[in-house]
Amino acid sequence: MPNIKEAQQILEHHFGYSTFRPQQEEIITNVLEKKDTLVLMPTGGGKSICFQIPALLFEGVAVVVSPLISLMKDQVESLRANGIKAAYVNSSQDIIDERRVIEQAINGEIKLLYVSPEKLFSITDTWLKDVRVSMFAIDEAHCVSMWGHDFRPEYTQLSTIRRQFSNVPFIALTATADKTTRKDIIKQLGLKKATIYISSFNRENLSLEVRASVPKKKKIKEIISFIENRPNQSGIIYCLSRKQTEEIANELRLSNIEAQAYHAGLPANKRAQIQEDFITDDLQIITATIAFGMGIDKSNVRWIIHNNLPKNIEGYYQEIGRAGRDGLPSETIMYYNLADLMVLKKFADGSSQTPIYEEKLNRMLNYAEATSCRRKILLAYFGEDLKQDCGNCDVCKNPPQFLDGTIIAQKALSAVKRTNEEIGTNMLINILRGSSNQEIYSRGYQNIKTYGAGRDISFRDWQHYINQLINIGVMEIAYDEGFRLRITQFGNEVLFRNRKVKLTQPVDRKTQKAKKEKKTKKKLTKNEQIFEKLRQLRGEIAKEQGVPAYIVFHDSSLVQMANDLPITEEEFLAIQGVSNVKLERYGKPFLELLQKISGKKLSTYEITYRFYQQGLSPEQISLERDFSITTIFSHFAKLYEEGKDINLRDFITQKEIDEVYEAYQELKEDNALKPYFEYFNETKPYYNIRLALTILRKEGKIKPREQV
Ligand code: ADP
Ligand code: ZN
Repeated sequence: MPNIKEAQQILEHHFGYSTFRPQQEEIITNVLEKKDTLVLMPTGGGKSICFQIPALLFEGVAVVVSPLISLMKDQVESLRANGIKAAYVNSSQDIIDERRVIEQAINGEIKLLYVSPEKLFSITDTWLKDVRVSMFAIDEAHCVSMWGHDFRPEYTQLSTIRRQFSNVPFIALTATADKTTRKDIIKQLGLKKATIYISSFNRENLSLEVRASVPKKKKIKEIISFIENRPNQSGIIYCLSRKQTEEIANELRLSNIEAQAYHAGLPANKRAQIQEDFITDDLQIITATIAFGMGIDKSNVRWIIHNNLPKNIEGYYQEIGRAGRDGLPSETIMYYNLADLMVLKKFADGSSQTPIYEEKLNRMLNYAEATSCRRKILLAYFGEDLKQDCGNCDVCKNPPQFLDGTIIAQKALSAVKRTNEEIGTNMLINILRGSSNQEIYSRGYQNIKTYGAGRDISFRDWQHYINQLINIGVMEIAYDEGFRLRITQFGNEVLFRNRKVKLTQPVDRKTQKAKKEKKTKKKLTKNEQIFEKLRQLRGEIAKEQGVPAYIVFHDSSLVQMANDLPITEEEFLAIQGVSNVKLERYGKPFLELLQKISGKKLSTYEITYRFYQQGLSPEQISLERDFSITTIFSHFAKLYEEGKDINLRDFITQKEIDEVYEAYQELKEDNALKPYFEYFNETKPYYNIRLALTILRKEGKIKPREQV
């Protein structure tokens, strides 16, 4: 039976990674022992390797079931880029391609076969019988359960497969599954005594931020400046409606930012094109409804913006999870305001699912209004207990200041009372601020006692306070009655019995942000410039080969290259994500570029020295650096004189040194080579003379001329 040692070797050789991530090792060990396995790991956690490595170690072909056709192609391409034989069959293929794959599978010429579930059922009783199946991997396994959020009926037939292939191990993987779904997956798939692995869902590299009640115009300005400060970064802006995706994309284009809207209303070919451009880094920014992203395995999405409040935390977490799959720091911002809430509440109306929907929406709202570490709240939602505040969310970075909000609350409540609970939030604020608008006059609200009582507080701050009053339950919105505000029991106690209310101070995000953004607008650092060059090279290569850029190298590999500046093959292999096959395929252009870049940082001698340390012979170095052998030896001589650990005697014999010493006695020349060259009748190569003189000088046998 293959063991974990071999798995480690494959990790290094084929994937270019030096260590397993948490749990990968345990999972792979379990699979290698041919036990059934259920893996729960967040997006970007590294699930694929958990079945890909066993697939390579087992004899035969591993069958990978995946519902997402676009993802399938991607994964197969990624594997091929690492020199792993893989193929897929699905409905998008023509019959000739399919035939070829069938043949390869039957002949055992591939290690992994990706299939869509519906395809799987049409092949199990036909040609799959002739394939030596080593294992089954069921990706997106939550699709099998009605309790999951993405139930797919085709998946339910997978249990028959488990029975048919009773001797091969099954591994089921998913990024989202609560307890009920988890149990259901095991039951539906018919897994046998499955070991369950649950990874932390914490994605530390994602920063979390929520911006409340930002008016539309200001919001778009903020988004534009955010993007302008992050040139060349990929991001997705999620919107509630198709119309919004179009609007925002237009606004961005007006500011010379390339962006495309993506939603289910577009023709399929247009959608495919946008997706393709996004994956290949030809298009950096997409404004999308949630239809976008399911089948996308792009590792270098650097930021996610939610233009509106999401429907539930599951969806929100999945969407922000599409950023930073490569583990590099990535940013997420969620905008929300009461109008979003109203739209979302309307969506719910009437169906039997409404109570669940509303409960989930409320939890989302609680998150948005949080006054303590947001990551703690998120993880708690998924049943995980984060011990410490994260330090990477807006609440941690900028803890809210609390104030006694009793009088503020009383003013608002009193206005609501005196208008007989007939008004919504905007009207309430207008009354409090003493606005002179038509509707107020026509209803006579200018005569009530609290008219203008809150003039000293800005409209935006009032929104902030009223949001909170609603959230802590002082008032509520009657969604079913035109969104008018109602006073709750708690509210009555505040109004009539002076019950205290604590509110948070509104933060002036504008000045805060503006300051921060200004700072980041400075020029790219040296490392960032190098990264940019590497990124461009990667883009050219990717285009040439017609693959997504990250299939060539992930951003994280480029970052490490920019830091470490590898210039030899060995150093290049030490970069995470550089496998042997990738070294072979892409090493040359990258090393050439890196050597050019290093040339500015390292002296030419130092570069030669690094090759020498790597064990390259002078001939190899001369080839690698495209310098003559004489030049390389002159570097050696210089390095030796500087006291570097370089053994010149490996390249010259004692007899040759003695000959030069003899000549010295006659010539008395300590440095110039030409007299020696002539002395030996041009039979001794220059570099040989140079080495001998260098050694003799160093050993004190010959002295600089002035001292003679
Ligand atoms: P998931 O399927 O869980 O969303 P992937 O399998 O696509 O995640 O892995 C996410 C990223 O992490 C990929 O870029 C992958 O190459 C990388 N990765 C996986 N395992 C390791 C590891 N042991 N070391 C470094 N990077 C890894
Ligand atoms: Zn936090």
